[in-house]
Amino acid sequence: MSALLNLQSLSVSIGDTSLLEDVSFTLERGQILGLVGESGSGKSLTALTITGLLPLIGGRITDGRILFDGVDISRLSETDRRKLRGGRIGFVMQNPMTALDPVQRIGEQIDVVSRLHLNLSRKDARARTLDLMAQLRIPEAGAVADAYPHQLSGGMKQRIVIAMALAGDPDLIVADEPTTALDVTVQAQIIQILTTLVRERGLALLLITHDMGVVAQACDRVAVLYAGRLAEERAVDPLFRSPAHPYTKALIGCIPREDLDAGELHGIRGSVPNAANFPPGCRFHPRCDNAMDICRTTLPLIAPLAQDGAVACHLAEGGPT
Ligand code: SF4
Repeated sequence: MSALLNLQSLSVSIGDTSLLEDVSFTLERGQILGLVGESGSGKSLTALTITGLLPLIGGRITDGRILFDGVDISRLSETDRRKLRGGRIGFVMQNPMTALDPVQRIGEQIDVVSRLHLNLSRKDARARTLDLMAQLRIPEAGAVADAYPHQLSGGMKQRIVIAMALAGDPDLIVADEPTTALDVTVQAQIIQILTTLVRERGLALLLITHDMGVVAQACDRVAVLYAGRLAEERAVDPLFRSPAHPYTKALIGCIPREDLDAGELHGIRGSVPNAANFPPGCRFHPRCDNAMDICRTTLPLIAPLAQDGAVACHLAEGGPT
């Protein structure tokens, strides 16, 4: 099966600062890819690049390609980018209030997407809006459609943003930390809604999260970003069973476990380096318990693993384990 989304050695800069380098991964229809890493790893920047919003923050693609359904979308005009975003590519932002207009009724905000991207009449657009709201298990859809954003709970607003992302009949949804601002129960509901949409409609979902628990629960594959570079990319089960990259292993070690007391929770020492000041060699070496001499001088390049996926670590090149 050919991939719906195929990032090929993508590099992105803002001004003179290189923020993403040589990032490659693929995503197929009916699949959920978790894009994970701490804040500052480049996850949101990847989302903005795929959805064509990079110019809004002054960024530019310096190398590589983004193939969407076989077509390179990395250098489209603003008009074509807008057509794609909201149409075949839906975007669910982290903060629903960024996506919603506070002074426009909810129903009108969803209607406008299908009127614009599917050329529906007002009446058909509203029927589609109410249908989508029902699919997203939004009770009293008619009343919610007449409401303003501030009248809804955080979880309900996020469902509305998902409805807006679906209204243009997308093939791909990019969801950037869609549950971060929500309580645990609502988080689980939103993740379940998204996974059901993928399974039932054959959509592809790029789920950006820092929560490895959500990844384990929902994703088929995982791409781990660290300091703007891909650390590891693999199917979810082998990645959790035997992570090949020390950073992946450390992220998995941060998942809260019921059999550990709060005092036993593992964090990762230090923090993600600033893009203006990446360390030489492997960018993870100042935080890595396995660092060797070569790690301090030589950048490890991403290389295929024997069974599936890829990793960028000198350990995988035959060093001590
Ligand atoms: Fe650690 Fe070296 Fe691998 Fe980097 S290349 S993750 S420092 S072992």
